[in-house]
Amino acid sequence: MNIQAPGHPNPGLDRSYGPFIGGEFLDAGERTFPAVNPATGRHLADIARCGPREIDLAVKAARGAFKSWSTTGYEHRSTLLLKLADALEADLPRLAMIDALDIGRRVSETEVDYRIAIGQYRYFAAAILNFEDFGKPIPNGYSIARRQAIGVCGIIIPWNAPSIMAALKLAPALAAGNTVVLKPDENASLSTLELCKHIANIFPPGVVNVVPGLGEEAGGALTAHPDVAKLAFTGSSEVGRIISAAAAARLVPVTLELGGKSPNIVFPDVQDLDAVVDNAAFAGTYCNGQSCLAGTRLFVHDHIYNAFMDKLVAGLSSLNIGSPIDATTKLSCLVSKTQGERVLDYIDIGGKEGANLVTGGHRQTIAGNEHGYFIQPTVFEANNSMRIAQEEIFGPVLSVIRWNDYETMLEEANGVRYGLASGIYTADLAKALKTAERLEVGAVWINQYFNILNGAPLGGWKDSGFGSEYCRETLNLYTHLKSVTMAYDLPQQWYLK
Ligand code: NAD
Repeated sequence: MNIQAPGHPNPGLDRSYGPFIGGEFLDAGERTFPAVNPATGRHLADIARCGPREIDLAVKAARGAFKSWSTTGYEHRSTLLLKLADALEADLPRLAMIDALDIGRRVSETEVDYRIAIGQYRYFAAAILNFEDFGKPIPNGYSIARRQAIGVCGIIIPWNAPSIMAALKLAPALAAGNTVVLKPDENASLSTLELCKHIANIFPPGVVNVVPGLGEEAGGALTAHPDVAKLAFTGSSEVGRIISAAAAARLVPVTLELGGKSPNIVFPDVQDLDAVVDNAAFAGTYCNGQSCLAGTRLFVHDHIYNAFMDKLVAGLSSLNIGSPIDATTKLSCLVSKTQGERVLDYIDIGGKEGANLVTGGHRQTIAGNEHGYFIQPTVFEANNSMRIAQEEIFGPVLSVIRWNDYETMLEEANGVRYGLASGIYTADLAKALKTAERLEVGAVWINQYFNILNGAPLGGWKDSGFGSEYCRETLNLYTHLKSVTMAYDLPQQWYLK
């Protein structure tokens, strides 16, 4: 039954959501957990707390659908992905509002998320058409290298951008002919379950199954299930290690998109300081800082440091903090009290470590949204060895590090356990490219942070994981390679002679 969610005319939420298995929603049953609006504290819906029984049902449904889906023509799979993209586009305002209500991010951002997610479904619909097998003639025949779907993919995603996180894995997995059991995050299940309503109209039953639940319980059951042939995970490095161990125990392939603490480097020769400050502020606070890609270690050169900091502080301290569903909001609330307290703890740690707090540092109250953890954009002057510069905070907190010597700066930029993204601002193209070459990260953005493109690989090095997404090579991660070699003739008998 549809209800009207508070705070929005009608995002069409159900009162409760069961798991989506075999093309239909099952009853939510007695064991549920609530979806709560983190800004207002209002209850949005009840969600089934799935365990091993539901995971097993879902894996069976996915296995049942695998043979037909993997052997259906890739052109058909491509067409269905395009249909899904169209359906999401038509439903975009509603879905983006559901994410804003469910995770507290401003709706103008969750709309952008959907455009990125829709782009992914379209990109892989096209990429699979160009994902050719290869081969070569041999003296007495042919050898062909085939790429074939792996089987049932167990996918686990986090809460920060549910539409993108689902698309980054669903699109390549389905395009390549796999079937899927996906577990959304317990803080952000609503939009993925709503996605299933579109999937039900487009894909054959069992091709996509979504099983909401808690991390260890539902996620643990999924990673341990003997019929899951491939694992794909996005989340923290700590849980990534658990997933990797589960994959190792069963010897199944795994891809991991994990945390980040990305360096954003400003050289003294930048031409337009205002534009660089704008980009750096955005890099650190987009998603309320809850992005694995956030440029949270900001290296600013000594020669422009004071002017840069004046502009950064002036800009961030006047950023519009407001309700997630207000179109004018620039920064909204964190996903939960737990996350809010964690960020405030880190702000406290920064002070105790001797970092200099130059702006922000406090929770702010927004009328009508008193439940929410709205954390002011926070800037510390820090050094690279401090915990606030080394650990992923996942909130709008920037550690600014003053630099002078290029080699020392580069050593510090790489001196962190993560290796996900980075930014560079300089007027000197050669310097930018040479620096890009030496950064130990999966993505370098020169002049424009978060310049995410379909086709440009994005994936981690070091503790940020392995296996790039957004690109054609991602299809390799969702396929097995098999060579088929054919001789024209049977060899003459020689062995038993
Ligand atoms: P998390 O690791 O706590 O949870 C992620 C998912 O794993 C959730 O669905 C959760 O239920 C599940 N999970 C938790 N414990 C599990 C277990 N023992 N077995 C199986 N599944 C389990 O991460 P989070 O705090 O929800 O998300 C934030 C993290 O995600 C940050 O570290 C962020 O950097 C990372 N992230 C990375 C990327 C990327 O592309 N590299 C993108 C977004 C977020």
